[in-house]
Amino acid sequence: MNIKRNKNKMFDTSLHLLKQIEDHGFSAYIVGGFVRDLELKIPSTDVDITTNATPKDIRDIFQENCLSHSEYGSSRVVFQGISFEITTFRSEGNYQNYRRPENYSYIDSLEEDLKRRDFRMNTLCMTSKGEVIDLLGARKDIQNRMIYTVGDSYQKFSQDVLRILRAIRFATVLNFRLSEDVKEAILLNKYLLKNLSYDRKKSELDKIFTSKNVTYGVKLLLELGLDEALEIPNLKNIQHFGDILGTWALLDNQKYPFTKNEKEMIRKIQEALTMDIRDPFTLYHYGPYVMMVVADIKKIPKKEITKLYNRLPIKSIHDIALDGHDIMKLLNIQEGPLIKNILNNLEYKILYSELKNNKQDLQKYVVKHFQA
Ligand code: ATP
Ligand code: MG
Repeated sequence: MNIKRNKNKMFDTSLHLLKQIEDHGFSAYIVGGFVRDLELKIPSTDVDITTNATPKDIRDIFQENCLSHSEYGSSRVVFQGISFEITTFRSEGNYQNYRRPENYSYIDSLEEDLKRRDFRMNTLCMTSKGEVIDLLGARKDIQNRMIYTVGDSYQKFSQDVLRILRAIRFATVLNFRLSEDVKEAILLNKYLLKNLSYDRKKSELDKIFTSKNVTYGVKLLLELGLDEALEIPNLKNIQHFGDILGTWALLDNQKYPFTKNEKEMIRKIQEALTMDIRDPFTLYHYGPYVMMVVADIKKIPKKEITKLYNRLPIKSIHDIALDGHDIMKLLNIQEGPLIKNILNNLEYKILYSELKNNKQDLQKYVVKHFQA
């Protein structure tokens, strides 16, 4: 119910925003994903607006609510609490670096603006009255669940190689098919993917790998040889796509960007994959998240692993009934590496049920084995 209310709020607010731009003498439309997703009756959170107002006009209209505007003709505006991307109608000159046009010119024609876009299904527009405008045949593609480029496929992918990954991502997330033209053009241009930043590649791949329809997306990636072009040759060996870091651990590629924490988790998952995860020390050492990811990959029931984990007598070194200070007092020794060694020894003995985790038993054990 909330989703519906939010969607309606977003829809109503978007139309008000268009009206506001029109009241200043410009034309403006919702374009792309939002209208496409409305047609498909699926929720969409991101609204893109296209207009003949320039970024400067947009700034004049929305003033401090215009958060940014770029030389590429896009502005970010917050209107009635919702954030919108507003882009000025433009035509694009030659492309450079297989990603960005060398120059833009602002134009006055919606149809010309739609022609610079990637896929026909992404050219559906909506007016401030809520009427759908379909100048390039988007509706037919959406109804047939097909992806065609706007104009020549070879040219579209060679101009901007990111579009290859957008095509696969949309096909996956929306469960659409790629037209033969699109497939052929991808095969001819995929070698250009080496020019695209790993950041960009990763953000599209993440959307594919976390989609409910991932199996289909991966089938497309493999069918088109994109595993090689994206330097993820292990893709063909992955049987099951669960946790995203689990997937990257299996892909085992050092080139894609991760935060320090993510890198650490990926390393732990890779390590734990080589171990017996029913072993108490492994469960304790790697913790529940890594264990769940590995259980999922190894097809071990998660319930069984949760049960084993919950049964561990200690979950961290701080759970040991004796701490470093207790040991120093007990043995009358100073701080030093011996304390850590003793704690590690206790950890091990407790986990393998060779010692009970109560103060008295632990004290006895420490005195017996470590008293000088
Ligand atoms: P979603 O927001 O659901 O991911 P979208 O279609 O709205 O999908 P955006 O990335 O928000 O995609 O872009 C908005 C619109 O801008 C697209 O629908 C498309 O018309 C156009 N567009 C975006 N990226 C490109 C590109 N690389 N080349 C050409 N047109 C593009
Ligand atoms: Mg969008």
